[in-house]
Amino acid sequence: MIKDFEATDLRPKGKIYDVCIIGSGPAGLSIAKKLSGSGLSVGVFEGGGETLTEESASIYEGTSAGIKYGHGIRSSRYRAFGGTSAHWQGPRRLMALSLDEADFLADPGSGLPGWPVPRSELLAYSPEAERFLGVEYPSDDLPFPVEGWDYRRGRFGYGGDLLGILGEHFTDKQEADYFINANLVDMSLDESGRINKAFFRSFNNPDVFEVEARKYVLACGGMENPRLLLNFNRQVDHGIGNESGFVGRCFSEHPSIRVGELWFPRDVRDYLEKRRSARIYLFPRESWLRDNFNFNHMIRVQPNTSSWWSPTNTRYGSVIVVTKQTANTNSRITLSDDKDALGLSRMVLDWRLMEEDVEGIRRAVQTISTNFARFNAGRVRIDERFHADLSASEFIESFDEMRGGNHHMGTTRMSGSPKYGVVDENCKVHGMGNLYIAGSSVFPTSGHANPTLTIVELSLRLSDHLMRVLSPEMVS
Ligand SMILES: Cc1cc2nc3c(=O)[nH]c(=O)nc-3n(C[C@H](O)[C@H](O)[C@H](O)COP(=O)(O)OP(=O)(O)OC[C@H]3O[C@@H](n4cnc5c(N)ncnc54)[C@H](O)[C@@H]3O)c2cc1C
Repeated sequence: MIKDFEATDLRPKGKIYDVCIIGSGPAGLSIAKKLSGSGLSVGVFEGGGETLTEESASIYEGTSAGIKYGHGIRSSRYRAFGGTSAHWQGPRRLMALSLDEADFLADPGSGLPGWPVPRSELLAYSPEAERFLGVEYPSDDLPFPVEGWDYRRGRFGYGGDLLGILGEHFTDKQEADYFINANLVDMSLDESGRINKAFFRSFNNPDVFEVEARKYVLACGGMENPRLLLNFNRQVDHGIGNESGFVGRCFSEHPSIRVGELWFPRDVRDYLEKRRSARIYLFPRESWLRDNFNFNHMIRVQPNTSSWWSPTNTRYGSVIVVTKQTANTNSRITLSDDKDALGLSRMVLDWRLMEEDVEGIRRAVQTISTNFARFNAGRVRIDERFHADLSASEFIESFDEMRGGNHHMGTTRMSGSPKYGVVDENCKVHGMGNLYIAGSSVFPTSGHANPTLTIVELSLRLSDHLMRVLSPEMVS
């Protein structure tokens, strides 16, 4: 059973949890599920209701200051039980992809270190993460061979309906307390700098309820994790966990740019007409990455149709470059003077790209159009922006708005040193004994892959860490 925090008699009075998880998206739920059965007492506090309501959705409103964020600050997230996984329903299934070795390296041009965790450590959690997300890998071929290309095929997996997969977990085998309409609105620190209380309130009852726990995990998504920490400035001016000043900085997306139109030859059209999900994904080979400052990205080719899952016109298509973004301290989330209905300052998103990103996109466009022509797989007509002699800033300004993948990364970045990040390699906030962060806000580099598989891998790894530090005998 999931309890409604609006009902004051259902609140966990006098209970001290081993682990208090805030947020019930893929990050929070994967930790709760893994800790269930470990003997640790776990409370999961979700701000939204069982389904999305206007009062909860409106908490996510904010404003754009830099590049206009095409998905919308509010609509690129889902503030209800299950989190943004609600967006993966029906034909829009979760697309799951692992990070490459190249994604773990420092971004040239950023001046910041890469991942302090080796890729092999995350890959060890891939099978468990794939089971949690219901990921299956379809076998499909490309309509043309790519031997000799600078690009290779990739392997996207497709996930299922998260709450459907976990359904039994919430009913029969409930081993954690789950609350909805429980909004985290503040945290307090004791003299040693540890979190001693988290404060929650529901929408209809302004009274604040204190929750005590040995460890707290903030799992509210890549935009909300920094917004909350910056808001918690009652005892520390710059916000909790923000000694380094990195909270909110290095906001990254996966810029997704339509770079041109492609005319398909007959055999490619035949292939696209037969295929349900008519999208072709190509990924740069290691040799290309070595020669092009490791600028990882993917190329998506799709017929020009209004609904991508039922192609109607396979003669022409679009070429879209979806790229990583160089970690940039000036691309950031800050607070505005405007308050939400819970009394917290709303966010301002100042999303920025760097010259390296524009140069990488240009090189990718050049390479893909040359490859298509050389191997007779289609002719690409490149958008005139790529022919014009625009500076990097003029190029960025030429877009009224920019879209990404609804992927919000980097805003509480992980670093071995407190000088360059917010959390350490175990996702624990530097200098704080009991506050952890889960989700893509901890990614030190955005990499080229959709983030959720990596989010769950990291969350499962964090669960093992929590079991290790809270109850050594419980780790298998
Ligand atoms: C349309 C769309 C399609 C997507 N497709 C893909 C895809 O194909 N592949 C992929 O990898 N990713 C995809 N994503 C991104 C993916 O959904 C996110 O990466 C993922 O949901 C992040 O998980 P999370 O648990 O960190 O955050 P979320 O899923 O956002 O969950 C955060 C939770 O915290 C709760 N919360 C927020 N504030 C508070 C508070 N103050 N107190 C208590 N609880 C709070 C929220 O209500 C929410 O339940 C997509 C996103 C969208 C919008």
